[in-house]
Parts: sequence; C-alpha cells; structure tokens
Amino acid sequence: MRRMGMLVIVVLVAAAACAAQETPTEKEAAGDVVTQIHQLDQSLGVEPMVKKLTAPDAQREKVEARVKQLWQSELQAMSDWITLHPEIGFTEHNAVAKLTDYLKAHDFEVTVGVAGLPTAFVAKYRKGTPGPNLGIIVEYDALRGTRGAFHGDQHSAQGPVGLAAAVAVSEFLTETHTPGTVTVYGTPGEEMMPPEAKTVMWDAGVFKGADIIVRSHSMPNTARPAPGFGTCCMNIDGVHYTFYGAPAHELTAWNGRNALEAVIKLFNNIDAIRSNLRPETRIQGVITEGGAAPNVVPDKASADFYIRYPDSVYLAQVTEWVNSAARAAALATGTKVVIDHYGHDRDGISIASLAELDFAYMKMFGATGIIPQPAKPQGYDETGSVSSQIPGVGVEAKSSNFSNHTYGMLADATTDVGHHGFLIDAETEAAILYDFATHPELRSAVHTEFTRIQTLFGEYQKALEKAYPQPQVTGPAAKP
Ligand SMILES: [Zn+2]
Repeated sequence: MRRMGMLVIVVLVAAAACAAQETPTEKEAAGDVVTQIHQLDQSLGVEPMVKKLTAPDAQREKVEARVKQLWQSELQAMSDWITLHPEIGFTEHNAVAKLTDYLKAHDFEVTVGVAGLPTAFVAKYRKGTPGPNLGIIVEYDALRGTRGAFHGDQHSAQGPVGLAAAVAVSEFLTETHTPGTVTVYGTPGEEMMPPEAKTVMWDAGVFKGADIIVRSHSMPNTARPAPGFGTCCMNIDGVHYTFYGAPAHELTAWNGRNALEAVIKLFNNIDAIRSNLRPETRIQGVITEGGAAPNVVPDKASADFYIRYPDSVYLAQVTEWVNSAARAAALATGTKVVIDHYGHDRDGISIASLAELDFAYMKMFGATGIIPQPAKPQGYDETGSVSSQIPGVGVEAKSSNFSNHTYGMLADATTDVGHHGFLIDAETEAAILYDFATHPELRSAVHTEFTRIQTLFGEYQKALEKAYPQPQVTGPAAKP
C-alpha cells in the first residue's frame, strides 16, 4: 500500500479533514457536496443503527467465537508462516497454495489464475444460496526490500484474517438457513504497478455480483475514514516513456541519435514547467534504461513516472503536459518516443454506514491505539477500481507499534500486538458480514448511501471540469 504513516494521519485528523477536498479549488468546486454527505448520514440514522447492530446478539457472538477458534487453532500459524516466507507481487505461489487449500477444505470452490493473473484467485462458497453476496478481499504480497522480500506491510495476515471471517460466516449461513453466500477474492501484487491487479480483475468482471466487500490492513493505530470519496495517496497516473534513437560511435555521435539525451531532456522539460503547475502536483520519475556503454550512443532509453494530483481532473491536464514535454524532448533530440499509460489509481468511496459499524466493532473487540475522529474519506482498495463501484469497508485495527513498510511492522506480525490486531480484524469482518446478511435495514442504508455518494462524486467531478480552465495562449498569426 502507498499509505501515509501515523503522523500524517494524525495531522489530517487535527485539521478536521473529513473532507475529500484538499486544495482551495477542490473545496470550492465541491460546493455543498460535503454538507450533503453529512446530512445523508443524519437522514440514514447511522448512529442509532450502529448502536442497535452492535448490541448483544447471541447468534453474532457464536460467529465471533467460531472466528476466534479458527484463528487460534490454525490461521494464526498460517499468518506467521506467510510472514516468514515472503513472496513479492505476482509470485505469491506458496501463500496462494496455503490459502486456497484451506478454502477448499472448508467448502469453497476455488479458481486460481483469474483475469490472466496466475496468483489471483476467486473462492466461492459451495453451499451458498441466492441472497446477499458477501465479499472479502485478501492480499498476500510482500514488499520489495534491499535485503529481499519482507512483510513490512503485514499483507501476510490478510489472507488468514479473511479466511477466518469467510469460513465462520459461511457456516453460519448454512446452519441457520440464512440466504446468501460468501466469495473470497485473492488479489495479488498490491505493492506493484503494473498491473494493478484489482483494476485488471475488475475489468475482467471478477467482482461482478458482490454486494459488499471487506478487506483488512495493518495499521499503527485504529481508525476509520469519514464518508465521501478520496484515496490515501492522491490520484496517480503511471506513465512509461521510451525513446528510440540510432546507435553510433561516441566519437562520431552525429551519425546517431541519442535516446538518453532525450530522457535527460524530458526531466529538464518537466522541471521547466513545475512553476506553472498547481503546487499540490507531484511528479517523480526514474531512469529505467539509459544505454549499455559510454562508447555507443544509446539508441534506446526509458523513464518511468508517477504523476500525482489530489483529483483526477487536474491530473489529466498535468499528465498531458508531461506527455508534451516528452514529445518535445523527442523532437529536440531527433528521437521518437512511445508513451505507455500503464496504470492509474483513482478515488474510492467510503460510507459511514459501514465505517462507523466497523469502528464500533473494532473498539468492542478490544482494539488499541484508537483515533476518535474519522480520517479523510478513502476507499478500501488503493486503485479505487473496486471501492468506487462496490460498497465496502477496510478493517484496520492497530496491529503494530511501527508505521507501515518497516522492519518493525514486520517483527510485530508474529508477536502479540500483531496477533491481537489480526484477530480483531477477523472478528470485525465477520460481524459486519453477519449484520449485512441478517439486517435488511443495513443493506438498504448501505445501498442508499453508496449510490448517493457516487452521484455526488459525479457532480463534484463535473464542477472540477469547470474549475480548471486552460489559459488562452495567443501569438501573432504565422506568416504564410
Ligand atoms: Zn498494503
């Protein structure tokens, strides 16, 4: 995950950042969208509904007890095993084998290798009946570190956490003849781009039919997002620029065309426009290919960029400008450029009816490091591909004393602080899915809130289109 550390989250909370909008232009364009979102929560009666749902309930407590039993008997050990056997994105074969073997043994029909991704899987409950389709996303990829792969983001626990909830809830559905089914989505390579596994899986229709999706994630504190739309780390365009030239001897370079010079020019061109870009813009690139030897003019060179802005509307303008900078670099150096837009992250949607329920359960189950104020709105998946289309919530009880992507968080995955947080994640996922299956009023509130925020997001995007006019650049007419 490309996530902020605790400090940043605390600062955001202190700034009462329940708003999705980060810049003055965005705030103005949003108009009363934020007010409408909060009025929506009032009209839906989120607070009283959460109180009612989290009251003592013998059936739910039975499901929670089963989660605990599954976790303690086998799944905590599986989580530790995956932590100690890290595999980076799209190579998570051992983790997938562990998770899918377990699911098969618990009445799930498993398909590994969906959407053309060998380590993506879908597991459908065999005894499910027509009714709410309860979805759980699990991830399992490790981080790429200088000392090798490591689970410094604790994705190693997500699978076992999700499995505990999936099995406990599916057994409940069958035992009580409650209509509904459970689907587990194994999503690889969360830390990699490209491909963005969830976007690829979404495009392939893998998530079709899910009525709700939950996903857990490690955190150094226990928090939940405010309702609205947003993403943890800005909207992102991933763009790869490859320049093609012609080789020649260093001493007779005029016989060639230097692709590396084109890449260097691209970086310089971008620096030349930074002062005309809105200050929240972030553009960072690396040179991924720069030639083979100094005595041969490089005929191929490439650079990889993440271009970020808080909203996707202005981001589109920035990306087009960077593309122009690349074309200009090619023109100036006599090379050719191929522009590959290989990935993008966009805003997701968070809803109070699930986020507040999630928060109440995490506290009830004993989560520590509670941050009382909601954080800024964001979807439960970083790509926004799924969380802007299917309602759901990211369950994130404190599971480490260290921030994300650290060796400290890795160490905590196999100790009490991690184990405690993971069990709470599993219990909370199960409780939310149980409520969704058994309480039509929750389903109705989720549907109403989600579709309304989707509409408001559309209105906000339209307002932004008008908020970023391009200046008219005039000059004397060209001479014939
Ligand atoms: Zn992550």
